[in-house]
Amino acid sequence: MDKKTRDELIAKADKLLKYETDKVITWCSGCGNYGIQNALARALVLEGKERKDFALFFDIGCSGNGSDKFEANTLHGLHGRIISTAAGAALANDKMKVIAFAGDGATFSEGVGHLVHGVRNNFPMVFVHHNNENYGLTIGQASSTTRLGAKMNGTPGGVSIEPINTLEFVLSLNPTFVARGFSGDVDHLTELFRMAMRHKGFAYLEILQSCPTYNRLTTEDWYASRVKYVEDLKGYDRHDIWAAKKLVQDMDKEIYLGLIYENIEKKDFLSLQTNREGVKTSLVEEVKHYDVRDLI
Ligand code: SF4
Ligand code: MG
Repeated sequence: MDKKTRDELIAKADKLLKYETDKVITWCSGCGNYGIQNALARALVLEGKERKDFALFFDIGCSGNGSDKFEANTLHGLHGRIISTAAGAALANDKMKVIAFAGDGATFSEGVGHLVHGVRNNFPMVFVHHNNENYGLTIGQASSTTRLGAKMNGTPGGVSIEPINTLEFVLSLNPTFVARGFSGDVDHLTELFRMAMRHKGFAYLEILQSCPTYNRLTTEDWYASRVKYVEDLKGYDRHDIWAAKKLVQDMDKEIYLGLIYENIEKKDFLSLQTNREGVKTSLVEEVKHYDVRDLI
């Protein structure tokens, strides 16, 4: 984060504080969720969003418990279903920025079908995948992103199944925005949140999140010693899907963060609805009582 942006944040500290809650914080000490919500608050302030301009949708899990830790319009949904819930809100009110959050269980197991169709339909929303590589809320079982050999509750001898390469999977769906951040680099993550909010279609933002209580393999230090930045790659073209697919192959030694892929040509779902062409209002504004007797 440059000095100008930092000064801007300091000047707007009162707006940052408005997102703080007096609810009991239930996250463990050192959890990556703190850094993620910090980056979110900073990004909202820097993008000039007021509370009425956005809504946050939370799935089930430790990430989902963020729903009452942020003073804003929030909804805590069903496990694995938050993309469809949030997409509905985004389509109903295109003047509101919709941001949805889910863990690796919800995203790549219970809700993986919703992820596929969220990306495919290019719904106008941000989707944040908290990837802490385990089911933290249910005390540390392996998820589909837990690494091979990791000793978890439920698999004390070590995980025997290879994890899903999440970004490779999303890139196979012809997405329009794929980025990856790290809960331990809040400045960088703030910028990724800002870029995702400005994107018109489905912005997939994955966050490598440390879970110090249950995932003893991928600790904050483990990530910190491996993450690299796309911005430092000379000649990297983020509009080249093949370059992106190649970059995300390595999940162990050099893990790249940043805006990895972007397609600004493909239209978002709402722009493709020809029945809405020229309509200036949102569906929310159009809700009223209609006399349907003549239609019966
Ligand atoms: Fe965070 Fe892990 Fe504790 Fe959940 S279990 S609050 S993810 S540290
Ligand atoms: Mg998880």
